[in-house]
Amino acid sequence: MEHNLERLKAHILPLSNANEWNDAKNEWRLIRIQVQEDWDNCPCGKEIKELCYIKNQLNGKTTYVGNVCVKRFLGIDTGNLFSGLRRIIDDETANANEDLIFHAYQSGYIFKEEYNFLMETRLKRNLSVSQLSWKKKINRRIVNQIVVRKRTST
Ligand SMILES: [Zn+2]
Repeated sequence: MEHNLERLKAHILPLSNANEWNDAKNEWRLIRIQVQEDWDNCPCGKEIKELCYIKNQLNGKTTYVGNVCVKRFLGIDTGNLFSGLRRIIDDETANANEDLIFHAYQSGYIFKEEYNFLMETRLKRNLSVSQLSWKKKINRRIVNQIVVRKRTST
């Protein structure tokens, strides 16, 4: 199944104030991202694991789309959020990038002093033992807020 704009429109337009797609798509902003271990579906029909939650600025409605459609069809740039996230999922001592650090702070996942610490050390390779353990602790919290683990079958 490919990214299907018509199917995406059929989902987004009824949630928008405008009736025309070109106006409607501008009503939406990214509010948070989520990565799932289980497959989900974008409204376009494509199977996804990276979800972008979006909110309509005019009527407050929320929904989610995949990370391709959010950029290609809604024109919302997620920057390096997902690649930054993948990096700290794979290695909890890795440095989060600026986009992810900002998003985590904005979403309330990390405190101001943690935000400052991550920003100050985001390009550093050699951290002290205590800095490294602090970084791990913060990274783990960011991952736990964004990643939804596999549903266990009971
Ligand atoms: Zn899609």
